[in-house]
Amino acid sequence: MTDRRRQLPSVDRLLHQPGIQQLLDTAPRALVVAAVRESLEAARTRRAGPPDRWDEDVRERLAQRAGAGLLPVLNATGVVLHTNLGRAPLAPAAIQAIDAIVGGYSNLELDLPSGTRGSRTDHCRTLLQAATGAEDGLVVNNAAGALVLALNALAEGGNVLISRGELIEIGGSFRIPDILAKSGARLHEVGTTNRTHLSDYRQAVRGAAAILTVHRSNFEQRGFVTSPRPAELAELADQAGIPYLYDVGSGLLADLSPWGLNREPRVQESLAAGAGVVLFSGDKLLGGPQAGCLVGRKHLVSQCRSNPLARALRADKMTLAAMAATLVLYQDPDEAVRSIPILAMLTLEPDELLRRAARLAALCPPQTRPEIVAGESAVGGGSFPGAVLPTSLVALDAGGLGPDGLALRLRVGQPAVVARVSDNRVILDPRTLPESALKVVAQAVETALRS
Ligand SMILES: *Cc1c(COP(=O)(O)O)cnc(C)c1O
Repeated sequence: MTDRRRQLPSVDRLLHQPGIQQLLDTAPRALVVAAVRESLEAARTRRAGPPDRWDEDVRERLAQRAGAGLLPVLNATGVVLHTNLGRAPLAPAAIQAIDAIVGGYSNLELDLPSGTRGSRTDHCRTLLQAATGAEDGLVVNNAAGALVLALNALAEGGNVLISRGELIEIGGSFRIPDILAKSGARLHEVGTTNRTHLSDYRQAVRGAAAILTVHRSNFEQRGFVTSPRPAELAELADQAGIPYLYDVGSGLLADLSPWGLNREPRVQESLAAGAGVVLFSGDKLLGGPQAGCLVGRKHLVSQCRSNPLARALRADKMTLAAMAATLVLYQDPDEAVRSIPILAMLTLEPDELLRRAARLAALCPPQTRPEIVAGESAVGGGSFPGAVLPTSLVALDAGGLGPDGLALRLRVGQPAVVARVSDNRVILDPRTLPESALKVVAQAVETALRS
């Protein structure tokens, strides 16, 4: 046994270390003591002996004990809406709104002036109306749920017309034909994979319960393709006296065309085209919490609201608080782009990205020979397929570890950093890293090389 291992501190001494004292502020003493004992036991039996820093080792063990499976991650991939990394980070106003209500009680379902029962669906209603121009709006748990709800409430047992070019898979278990089947509506395919005409819909519309358009949010069709404009489908649906539902996916409210991002349907425009209900996610381009929004005509949205599935899909108070605070930001479009992280990252200017890349490169260990290279970021999250976001990347030479080895160590380090690997190098994109994280990422690289 080495000396280092023989001279292990006592449990009590470790508990008095400032870093470990801090843990006692937020975790029960018994858990911290157990983590300290575990750390000591590991140091006794481990070849390498005691950890470099006891407090970090204890903190990690405590996190495991507390079952904290969800950890913060620094996203160096440049994929702005990364579904595996939790999609949209929230705006400070949304975080404050959650913070203000979750530690106590709230007026979630109580009308304070009258003291009578209120509805949780009221909290975002007016804000959704203001942000989109819709007559009415409803927030549920996510957009997949919103689509099931709308189809069930408005087309159960009936035929729903949908183009063969829109029988798509959004990811994992979200496939339009399966969703339709589960909703209790019947799929009625019209047109072909690449070309669907208004006449295809017209021939099938008699006796149908609804027309559905699903935005091809994660791929593009090019070449010999056509589909009717939403306004034409809205008119056809109106003539037939049935609802026209439009799943736009990403929930884009901001006008990003000055930044060259204009190939995604905006919610306001889809409503203006005449859609009866527009459905979208809360945590994609809207930049809010995970949620599904339904906006549109009053009688249609209210049928959705009173459907039993709305209860099964209802949003919780944290979601509603964050969504409301995010929607408020849209009342000033410039403010929205500045303060909603997703929009700020998408609209970063090339100079700023270059400056951040230069700073990150300068902070990274010299042995990685950091090099600034021109590259592209991705919007991700099933939005703006094919959009190109030019960026400045930092490419690192991982030496003997190899790029996959370094990327792995970064992922399992503390804090976890997720990077890209390309051309035998580890690639860091500053677009998705807050300024304050540049130093932390560089330190993580240094630690990963050392460990
Ligand atoms: C992402 C997406 C959905 C699913 O949204 P969730 O909020 O993840 O449930 C549905 N439809 C389209 C077109 C999408 O892009």
